[in-house]
Amino acid sequence: MRIEEIRVRKAGIQSSIRNAVISFSEMTLSVVRIRFDHGGKTVDGYGFCSNGRYAQNEIIEQRFVPRILASNPDHLLDESGLPDPLKIWDAFMQNEKPGGHGDRAVAAGALDMAVWDGVAKLAEKPLWQLLSERFNAGQSDEEVLVYPGGGYYYPGKEISGLQEEFKRYLDQGYRYLKMKIGGEVLSTDMRRIEGAIDVMEGPGFLAVDANARFDLETALAYGREMESLGLFWYEEPLDPEDFLGHSILAENYSGSLATGENLFSRHGLLNLLRHGGLRPDRDWIQLDPALAYGLTEYLKVIEILENHGWSRRRLIPHGGHQLALNAAAGLQLGGSESYPGVFHPFGGFADNIPVNQGRTRLHDTPGIGIELKPELHSKILELME
Ligand code: MG
Repeated sequence: MRIEEIRVRKAGIQSSIRNAVISFSEMTLSVVRIRFDHGGKTVDGYGFCSNGRYAQNEIIEQRFVPRILASNPDHLLDESGLPDPLKIWDAFMQNEKPGGHGDRAVAAGALDMAVWDGVAKLAEKPLWQLLSERFNAGQSDEEVLVYPGGGYYYPGKEISGLQEEFKRYLDQGYRYLKMKIGGEVLSTDMRRIEGAIDVMEGPGFLAVDANARFDLETALAYGREMESLGLFWYEEPLDPEDFLGHSILAENYSGSLATGENLFSRHGLLNLLRHGGLRPDRDWIQLDPALAYGLTEYLKVIEILENHGWSRRRLIPHGGHQLALNAAAGLQLGGSESYPGVFHPFGGFADNIPVNQGRTRLHDTPGIGIELKPELHSKILELME
């Protein structure tokens, strides 16, 4: 068993959307292929970084890949002779100082995803099953709560445009939905929220996402207006690292808060738990393994969370990709975001597995399941030519 080659390419993600803070029209991501030679048989693992932070090919190509390829191949294997993602992670993170996570964490996320996809294929198991057996005493969930991260702004038809988008998701089998806030004034957003609830089962199924747009005063003002609705959650009200702000908001807003998609390491989580005032009985944590040093780091995230008295069911990763879905099922998290309509072809799950009542089942083919998204699979093959 040896690693034959690691190839990195940059891809655009087809998206004309914008949230309260950024446009995605120029968004890129890194795509990685790791090729294993398994006794003469070639097995490819694929990975990509999650949307929102741009491609990081140089870090992967110039720092991570040379370190892996310079390692003694025997030192990268587990006891059964398969490549060990944890050892490969340690190899590529050699000589990287602590702190300063940002773009490096994204690069690691893409590479680590490819490693896990390849290792699950070598083990001839779906990734969720491999994770369940190795890290969750064989327990897993047959279905995972998924919700589309959407609910965009429609200039000129704020409410009807949003309702049409939501009806499409409901027709696709989704039940929990999320909408953007903070791109308009509070009174307009409240009318949008009420319009959204009108086409849904109830406010308890609606999450709102401010994309870290607000200062504390605005976050509190939105909280006062929304509190009585009993929403599913109120996401990223504040800058992700404004921990004191979160703790003040948590004291003043009795509903659920959600944050973490822009924290990039276990240390970021630790700070949030220590200083953010979040409440283990109602709040949600959204660190994204494909942005924050990979699934390998995410295993440590779960450990830290549980050591602080939280249930892993309060984790619901950002990103809407198949890595998060596999982690949610195999490690029994709270659920996963989903991108049925945006960030093509990287967003979304297997084409042949429907969403029903806001939940989806998992695949039974080896790996992450990228081959079950033919558009994504052929895009990756084309990039790697
Ligand atoms: Mg968000």
